[in-house]
Amino acid sequence: MGNPKAFISIPRKEAGYRPVHDRIHDFSEVEQTLNREDRKLQASRCMDCGIPFCHWGCPLGNKMPEWQDLIYKDNWKKAIDVLHETNNFPDFTGRVCPAPCEKSCVLALSEAPVTIRENEASVTEVAFSEGLIKARPPKTRTDKKVAVIGSGPAGLAAAQQLNRKGHRVTVFEKDNSVGGLMRYGIPNFKLQKNVIDRRIKLLEEEGILFRTNTEIGKNITGAQLMGDFDAICIAIGSGEPRNITPNGRDLKGIYFAMDFLSQENQLLMEEQLTLPEIITAKDKHVLVIGGGDTGSDCVGTSIRQGAQKVTQIEILPKPPVGKNPDTPWPYYPYILKTSSSHEEGCERHWALNTVAFNGKNGQVTEAVVEEVEWEKDENGRMKMTGTGKTEIIKADLVLLALGFVHPVHEGLLNELGVEYDVRGNVAVGKENQSNVSKVFAAGDAAMGASLVVRAIASGRKAAENIHNMLMS
Ligand SMILES: Cc1cc2nc3c(=O)[nH]c(=O)nc-3n(C[C@H](O)[C@H](O)[C@H](O)COP(=O)(O)OP(=O)(O)OC[C@H]3O[C@@H](n4cnc5c(N)ncnc54)[C@H](O)[C@@H]3O)c2cc1C
Repeated sequence: MGNPKAFISIPRKEAGYRPVHDRIHDFSEVEQTLNREDRKLQASRCMDCGIPFCHWGCPLGNKMPEWQDLIYKDNWKKAIDVLHETNNFPDFTGRVCPAPCEKSCVLALSEAPVTIRENEASVTEVAFSEGLIKARPPKTRTDKKVAVIGSGPAGLAAAQQLNRKGHRVTVFEKDNSVGGLMRYGIPNFKLQKNVIDRRIKLLEEEGILFRTNTEIGKNITGAQLMGDFDAICIAIGSGEPRNITPNGRDLKGIYFAMDFLSQENQLLMEEQLTLPEIITAKDKHVLVIGGGDTGSDCVGTSIRQGAQKVTQIEILPKPPVGKNPDTPWPYYPYILKTSSSHEEGCERHWALNTVAFNGKNGQVTEAVVEEVEWEKDENGRMKMTGTGKTEIIKADLVLLALGFVHPVHEGLLNELGVEYDVRGNVAVGKENQSNVSKVFAAGDAAMGASLVVRAIASGRKAAENIHNMLMS
């Protein structure tokens, strides 16, 4: 720790976002960056605590105190090396991670944690710009072949770890481009796609083969893959969207969030569109149902497409502002989150259940919502009751951002005969192994819909277990 008093003398400084009036006209990243001197000062705020709770809070176990100190000392090369020891893609998490590390930072007790996430993004940008991140192909190869199915963060992390052990890795991806939800779900204004491209280039240089537009279970059967590879890592994500079916659900103009978001990403990449029709928010009253990150991404995308008004509703009650005694430090706090997209002009409501959609000539025009109340039942579970008080929200585009239930069972998973857990995810033991010999699973497909950082951690763990199985 270079400056033991920095946490007292230097205030937390965030880079902040581009001004709203500027950023809503394009899809470029909204977050700005600090200059290197300011970044070094921010890193110096790390107290190098005896017990680094940040390390505990991070699913990857990133060694925050070590690389904060290296930033402060201007040793960016060593900083990226230390980061890479635990995290394959700090450039992704540095942009989109909700940073549980910051929530558990000891300085968070006084509400000004170290800017760990931004510092992480800075390390990767400096390292890329100075050519410090290079392909690291393995020195020797084994004769083992591994198929990774799915190219999201879990599949990419598993592939890189296995390739570095010398195994021959092929990643199969059903979509046109690699990256999973980071490519087709997360909008460019949070994660620019060239950030993914430069990593894929390195992975290719390291020797990983990518086969895109190849759906396993359709273009190639699971059985074929079982015959051709020594191990299989299923990293297909949690692709089954949660639905609601009130009256009027079949009206035109009601879409799953991913149909909307992936189409915008396809348009920006100038890719062929999956859906025959264009879904646009231009001049529309948009209703986003679902108050999470996906909903927030729909808000930002609708605003950039020129929506007349955007409303976001959530069935749960409004979370507490600031602190929540139910999730005290160092836990991840369940509190009200206001994203950059919310700041751009969106009306938000909580404790509203959608009871019907009304329409004209087959097209949705409004949603009927009912106010609900939440109470804990005798088992401590939250129970919802309708109050009978309804209201109408004008909506000619409705986006369902209600999360995902589990991976798609039809096709690959059913064909392989993997067992499911109670939630419908691929059931795996401690070692990521499914009930089918040599078939492992990682990421959202095994954990349920989660976060990029957890997917990377899960992919790394699966790779370690696959390697142990292959070498035993
Ligand atoms: C809109 C949205 C915004 C999000 N924002 C954030 C955020 O800001 N921060 C954050 O941490 N997390 C965010 N998440 C969550 C995060 O993106 C996921 O948790 C993470 O991508 C899961 O990684 P994964 O590798 O398990 O699966 P995925 O990223 O879902 O990748 C799975 C891949 O498998 C492919 N596939 C599926 N079936 C087959 C098959 N049979 N054959 C070949 N390929 C197949 C899919 O096409 C896909 O590319 C967001 C999610 C969404 C939907």
